[in-house]
Amino acid sequence: MKILLANPRGFCAGVYMAIDVVDQLIDLCPNEVIYVFHEIVHNRHVVERFQKRGVKFVESIDEVPDAAIVVFSAHGVSPAIRKEAKAKRLATIDATCPLVTKVHAEAIRFARKGYQILLVGHRLHQEVVGTLGEAPEVMQVVESPADISKLVITDPDKLIYLTQTTLSLDDASIIIKALKDAFPNIKDPPASDICYATTNRQMAVRAIAPECDLVLVVGSANSSNSVRLTEISMNLGTPARLIDDRSEMDPSWFVGVKTLLVTAGASAPEDLVHDLIEDLVRTFGAEVEQHDVCHEEVEFGLPGTLKTMMRARGVDPAGRRIVRGDEGSRLREWFSQHNIPFRTVDLTVQGTAIQN
Ligand code: SF4
Repeated sequence: MKILLANPRGFCAGVYMAIDVVDQLIDLCPNEVIYVFHEIVHNRHVVERFQKRGVKFVESIDEVPDAAIVVFSAHGVSPAIRKEAKAKRLATIDATCPLVTKVHAEAIRFARKGYQILLVGHRLHQEVVGTLGEAPEVMQVVESPADISKLVITDPDKLIYLTQTTLSLDDASIIIKALKDAFPNIKDPPASDICYATTNRQMAVRAIAPECDLVLVVGSANSSNSVRLTEISMNLGTPARLIDDRSEMDPSWFVGVKTLLVTAGASAPEDLVHDLIEDLVRTFGAEVEQHDVCHEEVEFGLPGTLKTMMRARGVDPAGRRIVRGDEGSRLREWFSQHNIPFRTVDLTVQGTAIQN
């Protein structure tokens, strides 16, 4: 078997930042319970690892004791949640991805300018719930072209659409085209709301999946961008499986598979990919090639709320910048220790990577 390993895959800058926020808080406040509102990122392993370190995940602000520390997850929250947290005098640390915050800011800005806003996304996804909460009186969610006939539009010339950051580019473009057919004067967002990480991971699957017999996506079922990667592959005609980790692999999937693509959603830790690759190589004697479709350089700084807390506790936030680890090194080391060749194929085309 030949395994093609997609690059980019796995953690994005927003996920690195959100996970680092909780890590830093555990370090900064060793004797306090850290509460996180919703899963910090949509990955079962990330959540379970933090739970083992004492972090408590809550679905309601009511579950957090007064004056405790609460982290808002990477998906963002509505102003109503911020208000509830304030009423309980919670110390709030905001790990919302800056690219989600950007969509919130657009919603606020265009609502103030008198626009009605159509938010393209999944109604129950926490990111959509949070964004919708910025201006619920002028926003409506569009999940599919079928929703368009149900919209209540007061002025079709004062209309804008925004999108969830983790949509499939293909699905979004079908919905946006239908919106433009129905409302020719609808305004585009100032810049694409679908983030660079979603775009690049989808681009890699689109480029590599057609030459494969099967695609494995490492990620959790509630991770929007991971689910989209499996859908894209299946739309291209290549079967795809979404798995949380190697324990979910079923040997029957690999019968007749000569070329396998492995990728991971933006919230899936790289060590899970490594474990899976090691298992596959041991079982099938597979050879591995990493296909670099683009390189990402995006990094986010620590949120201001965390820096303020650090200063208040006598810790200088300078030098606590989030650093992306060299995720590929463990895998390369493992291959070299086992004398197995590991090739990297450069498929990058200058200017294709989206860096937001
Ligand atoms: S997937 Fe995109 S929007 Fe979501 S956390 Fe990552 S960079 Fe931010």
